[in-house]
Amino acid sequence: MMVIDIHEPGQTPLQHEAVSAVGIDLGTTNSVVAIAQDGQPQVIRDSDGEALLPSVVAYGADGSVTVGAEAHRRLLEDPRDVVSSVKRLMGRGLDDIKTLSGVLPFEVSVPADGDGGGESGGMVRLHVGGRHVSPVEISAEILRAAAARAEAALGRPVPQAVITVPAYFDDAARTATRDAAKLAGLDVLRLVNEPTAAALAYGLDKGAEGLYAIYDLGGGTFDISILRMEKGVFQVLATGGDAALGGDDFDHAIAEHFLAERGLESIRMEPATVKTVLSLARRAKEELSSRDSSSFRLEFNGEATFHPLDHDMFNALIEPFMTRTDAICRQVVEDAEIAMEDIDGVVLVGGSTRVPLVRERVAALFGAEPLADIDPDSVVALGAALQAEALTQGSDTLLLDVTPLSLGIETMGGLAEKVIYRNTPIPVAKAQDFTTYQDGQTGMIIHAVQGERETVDECRSLARFELTGIP
Ligand code: ADP
Ligand code: MG
Repeated sequence: MMVIDIHEPGQTPLQHEAVSAVGIDLGTTNSVVAIAQDGQPQVIRDSDGEALLPSVVAYGADGSVTVGAEAHRRLLEDPRDVVSSVKRLMGRGLDDIKTLSGVLPFEVSVPADGDGGGESGGMVRLHVGGRHVSPVEISAEILRAAAARAEAALGRPVPQAVITVPAYFDDAARTATRDAAKLAGLDVLRLVNEPTAAALAYGLDKGAEGLYAIYDLGGGTFDISILRMEKGVFQVLATGGDAALGGDDFDHAIAEHFLAERGLESIRMEPATVKTVLSLARRAKEELSSRDSSSFRLEFNGEATFHPLDHDMFNALIEPFMTRTDAICRQVVEDAEIAMEDIDGVVLVGGSTRVPLVRERVAALFGAEPLADIDPDSVVALGAALQAEALTQGSDTLLLDVTPLSLGIETMGGLAEKVIYRNTPIPVAKAQDFTTYQDGQTGMIIHAVQGERETVDECRSLARFELTGIP
C-alpha cells in the first residue's frame, strides 16, 4: 500500500513509526482523526486533503455502506438510505428515540426479544436502506472509516484509540460508544470528554491551575463546559448547552432570507431544491467568516436570482441564536458557582466558532479574548491524539479525567453506600470492607449504582451480579 504523507506546509512530518494509537473526535456533524508524536499532534487528512470526515453513513440497496463526504452528498436525495447525526441516538432507549421520531425519517423498531433498548441502547434499530441497523452499528461505520483513514496515511493499521465524548454523555451513551469502537475493531484506551480534549490541545494541563470555559458550537449542537484544572486533573464543574442549536440553524436562517428575497417560502419545496438552497446558504455563511460581504447566485426551477449578503445582515439573522447561547453560558457559570471574572480562559471549539459575531459575543461575555489559534474543528481530535500518545508512550504528564458522579453499592434497606466519590481522578481502584447480613451466608448480590443521593431508588443502576463462594 502506498503511504500518503500529507502535512501542513512548513510543518515537519512526524516520525510515524512510534505512533500506536490515534485520537478520534466522533462528532455529530463531522469526525476527525489525529495522531501525536513527541507532544506534537497532527490531523490525518484523506487523499483529497480533507481533515473533516462527515459523520454520515449511506446504506445502498445493493448492500454497500458509504461513509463521509460521498454519503453526505446523498443525504437529501435518498433520505431513507442515509443516516446523519446518529450521535444523538447513542445510548438512548426506544422511548427517547421515539420522541425524536419527528425528525427521523426512519422507522424505529426493537427486536422481538428486545427489552426497550438495553443499557447501551444497542437494541433499538433504525430501518434504513432496507436494513435494520442500530446506532452503535452506524457509529461503528464512522469509526471504521476514521481508522481506515489513519491506516491509509500511516501504511499500517493503528488498532488503539482515544475517543472523545460530550461531557454530559451518561453511562449508557459512553458504553454505546465503546461498543461501537469494539465493533469497528478498535481497542479504546480511554474515552475523554470533548472539552477536556480541547483544553489538552491548548496545553492548559501544563500551565497554571485555573478555571476554563470551553465553548463548543458545532453543526447542530451547542455545549459549554466549565473546567477546573488542579494538580494536572481536569474536573468538569458544570456543563450546559442546547442539543438543537448550531451552524445548521445559521444555514436555515440564511436560506429563508434568500427565499424571502425571491418571494418564496421553503415549506412547499422539493427536497432537491431545499438541498440547493441550504448548500448555497452554508457556503455563504462560511465565506462570510473570511470576508465582509459577497453576492450569491441562487438557481433552481430554471430561474437565477442574486442575493447580496454582508455582515450586518448575517449578524441580524443569527442574533436570536446568539441571545440563546449567551443565556446558556450565564446559567452554566452560575451552576458552577463561580463568577464570570473567575474564568482564566475561554477555548473555542466547533466549526461555527469561526463566525466573527460568535467570537465577538464570546469575548464580550467572558471579558477576554478567547483562545482560537488552533483550528476549532480539529482541536478536540488533536487533544485526543495527545492523550493517546500519553497513554501509549508512558509520558509522565498522563492527564486524567474524574468520575462525574459517585459510584457505590446497594446496602441493606435500599441505601447507596458510596465507594468512589465524585470527582475522583480515574482510573481508580478502591477496596472497602462489607459484611454479610447473616453469619454463614455464602453469597450476596452486589448492585453497583451511580449518583449522589442516599437511596438506591434515586441513583442510576449500573449493574448487578451475584458474588458466591464467600468462605
Ligand atoms: P460537530 O462538532 O457538530 O460535529 P463541527 O465542529 O465540525 O461539528 O462544526 C460543523 C459546523 O461548522 C457546520 O455547521 C459548518 O457549516 C460550520 N462551519 C465550518 N466552517 C465554517 C466557517 N468557516 N464559517 C462558519 N461556519 C463554519
Ligand atoms: Mg464537535
